[in-house]
Order: sequence, then C-alpha cells, then structure tokens
Amino acid sequence: MRRKATARAFVVTALFLLGAEAAKSAERGLEIYFIDVDGGAATLLVTPEGKTVLIDSGWPGKDDRDPKRIVHVLKDVAKCEKLDHLVTTHWHTDHFGGVEGLSRLIEIGHFWDRGLPEDKSAGLDFPDGPKLDDAIGIAYRKASAGKRTALKVGDKLPVAGLESLVLTSGGKVIDFAARYPGRAVRDLPANPLCEAAPPDLTVDGSDNARSLSILFSFGKFQFLDCGDLTWNVEKNLVCPADLIGPIDLFQVTHHGQDNSNHPTLIKTIAPTVAIMDNGPRKGGAAATVKRLKETSSVRALYQLHKNAATPDSDNTAADLIANRDPSGGQFVKVSVAPGGKRYTVQIGEDGEPRTFDAK
Ligand SMILES: [Zn+2]
Repeated sequence: MRRKATARAFVVTALFLLGAEAAKSAERGLEIYFIDVDGGAATLLVTPEGKTVLIDSGWPGKDDRDPKRIVHVLKDVAKCEKLDHLVTTHWHTDHFGGVEGLSRLIEIGHFWDRGLPEDKSAGLDFPDGPKLDDAIGIAYRKASAGKRTALKVGDKLPVAGLESLVLTSGGKVIDFAARYPGRAVRDLPANPLCEAAPPDLTVDGSDNARSLSILFSFGKFQFLDCGDLTWNVEKNLVCPADLIGPIDLFQVTHHGQDNSNHPTLIKTIAPTVAIMDNGPRKGGAAATVKRLKETSSVRALYQLHKNAATPDSDNTAADLIANRDPSGGQFVKVSVAPGGKRYTVQIGEDGEPRTFDAK
C-alpha cells in the first residue's frame, strides 16, 4: 500500500515538474545579453526555441577572458548548449578576436560576416584585412571553413522566430525596395530631420564604415545593432529618406565613440532604451552620452562601464552602469515578452528589472 502511494506521489511530482517545465518554455520570449568584453562587442540573442545568435566575439588573449564570458552567459545563464550563429560585423580585433578561443570552447554552427578578401566580391574592399598571414584572420578562416556566408544588404539570417534584415554591409546601404517590399518610393516622404543634419565628416577609410548593420524584429519589438558604423554611412540610412524606422532598443554604435551615433540617425530611430558597450577606457564619449540624454525618446541609457576618464555627469545614471569596477564582467540583459509588446532590462542575473512597452 505504502509502495503504491509512493509511486503515485512520484508520478504526480514528475507530471507537475514536466508541466512547470513546459510552461516555462512556453513563456520564454527573446533574450538579449550585452556581454562585457572591455570595450569590444559581444551581443548574444537567444530565441524562445533556444537558438543562439552572437553578434561579435570580443578580444583575443587574456587567457580567453572574452570567450569564457560569452560561454558562461550562453551555458550557465541562458542554459543553451551551442552557438548556432556567429555574426562578425567587421574585421577589427575587438569584434572577431574572440573567435579562436570561442571555437575551442563551444560548437559554432554557422559563421556570417561581411565577406573576406579572398571571396573577391565585386565592389568590396578590405582596408583592414584580415590578411592571409594575420594570426586572428588565420584562426577565423580555420574555425569557419566550410560553414560561413557573406551577408549583403537585404539579406536575412535563417533563425526561426526572429526576423532580421541587413541594412548595411561593405559601406553599402539597403535600397528602398529591399527595405519596404511592395511599397512605392513615392510613399516614403523625405525625412524632415535631414534639413538640420550636421555636415559629413572626412570619409572613413577604415573597416568601421563597412560594418554590418542588422535590424532584428521580434513581434512588435525592434533592436538595431550597427557594429562600429560611422557618421557618413549612418546618415545615408536615414537621409534623404528613413530606411530604418522607429525602434525600441539601440546598441549604441561603436562603443559610444562620437564619430558614430549621428544625431539625425538617433533622432530618426528614436530608441526607448540605449545600451552602450563601452570599456572603462574606450568609447563612452561625453558627446555621445549627452546626445542620448538629450534625445526625448530615450528613457534609459545603460553603459557596460563607467568611462574612467570623464566625470559622473558625463556618464549615465550610476544605477544604469553595469560595471563600476574596471575589471568588469557584468552583463546587461534584455528580456522581451512573447509577441514583443513588452520588455525588461536589468543588470546581471539579479538586477532590478525595468519594464518598457514596445512602440
Ligand atoms: Zn569596435
């Protein structure tokens, strides 16, 4: 009798646990982690089905500091097993230096980038490599051999449950028809904010101007990551016509440097939340912080680090800085509810979440 009762209790408990587990996965939305890589970039998206997309992989060396931080968030925090997609926005060390370590520590499904010099794609140039004898370039080519694809404007990543659209690649900007299929050019009015746009800067000959920019959509929710795109190309995304549209979450471009984050782009996309992946001594420019603080749509500006070179007044509010200790390691997490109507932002696993409505 007792044995029967014990067996029944076991079955009931097992069913309860299964039910709780099913409810948990049914409730899972989109998660975005802004992983601290000390002034580099590493942004991890996790879909409701547990598919993982990493945009940039931080710096090399330092005993695999950045790959370890990425794997920690992916496995221990997000409870995923492998990296399904790795996107590299451009060929600078703080964006693809972590690939060698990452490929040793975790299985990587597919690699996406803006093209390699040996692809010999027409119209593309590679001012900053990666050259064939460059150590990080060698590591990237080895890790991605047979499983990489170059992204052009208008392309999408094949990730179930997460829409994406490449807005810039190799210095080119998406054209109207690809951005707004089925609509006529005459339906898109000139962007009135362009009249007050500040002048262009000297043409940026570096790989930053050739960064991938990707717009992600999850239901109503929109997230923009432009890598390290710079001023003149940023303006081409919103002038003479706006090719982005209003968004919810903005990864502050180029770690917050002030030759990026063009004022007309910021005003046009009108983000609600901005997250800056600066380091204690990289990015986080006072001019960028000021610009974002003065943007009326921005309700919260998060920084991964306090800028050690500027006073508190040139940084965001103290409670929105993930790492006050320069050694860092703390992430910012965005959790988007199913359907994308609402999202929360918090620092680390235990931070106080703030809730925002999608536009
Ligand atoms: Zn960078």
